[in-house]
Amino acid sequence: MPSPVIPESRSPVSRFVIEHSGQNPARCYQCGKCTAGCPAAPDMDMGPRQVMRALQLGMGREVLSCNSIWVCLQCQTCSSRCPKEIDIAKVMESLRLMAILEGHPAAEKNIALFNEVFLDVVKRHGRAYELEMGALYNLRSGHPTANARILVELVAKGRLALLPPAVRGVAKVRRLFDEAEAARRRVGREVRG
Ligand code: SF4
Ligand code: SF4
Repeated sequence: MPSPVIPESRSPVSRFVIEHSGQNPARCYQCGKCTAGCPAAPDMDMGPRQVMRALQLGMGREVLSCNSIWVCLQCQTCSSRCPKEIDIAKVMESLRLMAILEGHPAAEKNIALFNEVFLDVVKRHGRAYELEMGALYNLRSGHPTANARILVELVAKGRLALLPPAVRGVAKVRRLFDEAEAARRRVGREVRG
C-alpha cells in the first residue's frame, strides 16, 4: 500500500529546517524506527518521530520549546535507521540552531550553558582545556563545588592537565570563531526578519 502523502508544512520553522538541514520532514511516514533506536529518547519530551510529526503539523513553537533538541546527542543512530533516508540528526541540529538564533529559552539550560563554556574555552586556547571547562561550568551553573573531588582526583592521576594546552595557530582558531559569529548574526537577522 503506498504511504500517505503528507503536505509539506509551510511554517517558518519547517522552512528553516528544510533550508538549513536539506531534509524535508514531510517525507517521514511515522514508522518510529528513529525513536526505537534513539539512546536519548527516554529523556526527551518528544522522541524524534514525534518531532518529525510536529513539524509536519506546523507545530514549530512546540518543537522549539521541547527539550529533545538539546538532549539529542547527534549520534546519528536515527539517521542511519530511517527507511526514508531522512537525516534526522541534521533536523535536530537545525532546530537547535533556530532556537539559538531566535533567542528561544533553552529547555535544558545546563546543556546550553555547557555548549557555551566549551566553545569559549576552545576559542581561548585553540582546543579543549577540561579543567577550565569544569571550573567555568560549575561557576556559571551556580554549583561551584560540584564534582570538585573528582576533578582533584583526575588531576592527581594525571588524567586532567593542570595547565592549558599549548596550541600553535590559536589566532587562526579565533578568526574562525569570529567568522562563525558574524555568520550567526547575519542568519539571526534573516530569521528574525
Ligand atoms: S542523533 Fe539525536 S535524535 Fe538521533 S538517535 Fe542520536 S540522540 Fe536520538
Ligand atoms: S525513521 Fe524516518 S520515516 Fe520512520 S519515523 Fe523516523 S524519520 Fe520518520
